Amino acid sequence: MGENIHEECGVFGVFADKQFDAANYCYYGLFALQHRGQESCGIVVNDDGVFNAHIDKGIVDDVFTSRVMESFDNGRMAIAHVRYGTKETAGRRDAQPIVVSHHKGNIALCYNGAINNAYELRIEMEESGSMFHTNSEAEIITNVIARERLTSTSTEEAVYRAMDKIKGAYCVVMMSPTKMIAFRDEHGFHPLCYGITDEGVYVVASETCALDAVGAHLIRDVKPGEILVFEKNGVRSLTGHCGKSPRALCIFEYIYLARPDSVIEGCSVHKARRKAGEMLAKIYPVDADVVIGVPDSGLDAAIGYSKESGIPYGIGFVKNKYIGRTFIVPGQHLREDRVKIKLNPISDTVEGKRIVLIDDSIVRGTTSTRIVRMLREAGAKEIHMRVSAPLFVNQCFYGTDIESREALIANRFPKEQIPEIIGVDSLGFLPLENVRDIVVDGDNKGFCTACFDGMNPTDIDQTSKSFKYAKKIKQGDE
Ligand code: SF4
Repeated sequence: MGENIHEECGVFGVFADKQFDAANYCYYGLFALQHRGQESCGIVVNDDGVFNAHIDKGIVDDVFTSRVMESFDNGRMAIAHVRYGTKETAGRRDAQPIVVSHHKGNIALCYNGAINNAYELRIEMEESGSMFHTNSEAEIITNVIARERLTSTSTEEAVYRAMDKIKGAYCVVMMSPTKMIAFRDEHGFHPLCYGITDEGVYVVASETCALDAVGAHLIRDVKPGEILVFEKNGVRSLTGHCGKSPRALCIFEYIYLARPDSVIEGCSVHKARRKAGEMLAKIYPVDADVVIGVPDSGLDAAIGYSKESGIPYGIGFVKNKYIGRTFIVPGQHLREDRVKIKLNPISDTVEGKRIVLIDDSIVRGTTSTRIVRMLREAGAKEIHMRVSAPLFVNQCFYGTDIESREALIANRFPKEQIPEIIGVDSLGFLPLENVRDIVVDGDNKGFCTACFDGMNPTDIDQTSKSFKYAKKIKQGDE
């Protein structure tokens, strides 16, 4: 259930050589990316250099009412964003896109990721006169680019120079008055792709499912370190930052973060999850009557386990589709039951059965414990849990909000005790040495697996000011 794990954001952008209903494209694109963030969202349309923005807290459906959508004029380009925010940075103030003006024009920018030297960059700029309105790292990136722009001959040159200064994981889509620019950090931590519609509208998005939503055909993924410039004469690729650092695509995108109908760097997310299930069946076989998955990201792996093992696949739960992240539990005594409200077992599938239960991850273990208890109450005879990821041992420094290191079940209890704590008859995690093998297609075999093995692909200095600053912002201690 992705217990206490959240992707930070999804980005989207459209560009054409004539005016079109760019905001409507963004609306559909954001709907497709809603799983990447539900705290706030925003669209900025560029109407011949005039930027019209609507940015607010809430999910896409609530923020972009028909009245709001009608208020957008056509434009030649637009960018858009969905955001997950930590508790203290979830407000409207930190929503994206960010829009700034400088004496060479306007910039609108949105991003997904985490900047590892955010504090150093911000202090350097503040000490030389910059003022910041938000706690958002997008504002820091925007300011770095705006400053470089003052002494560059073009926006893309400013971006190129800014990339030398910004350390960490980032996928950015931005607009100047005349161009849309998309770029990705040198390691390529998070996915970013682009395509084109039959009408000639270029589309950039965090995931291919958003290209599908607006009828765009995938051209390719943006390369790690690449800058794509969408302008009147077409698309230009600047590759000066490419190949400088080892690739480190987040493996957890395949396991949990991305939508199963997306394709990342040549491999279908659905296929990767099925493969994880097949591998679990080979590594941890068990005699059972039915395989069930925890919705949503456990389902594909459950199908894979069922196929490989020959044990029938069943629908074990109904998920309430109408509960959002802002779901409030009225009253402390009901808090324990919130999992039940989101998810309810189908007794016909589980009663009297030996069950293989597939989930995508275990973080603290509290959600798994409640799910297992629900299955027992529904009459399950045996529960054999298989997890399509290794155990988390580390927090993520690259944009995925995982629990603190201390809260992770792997750091609180010996591995042998975990089945008893969760209440299952047996438990198996996808072994660390096998996790890369779930990506069956595509050429990329360079992955970040740092939350599972602690091997951060970049230097992370936990005593640095940026690290302390990020922690302070997260705790709301401003
Ligand atoms: S640490 Fe984990 S969640 Fe973060 S980028 Fe690496 S694999 Fe993804």
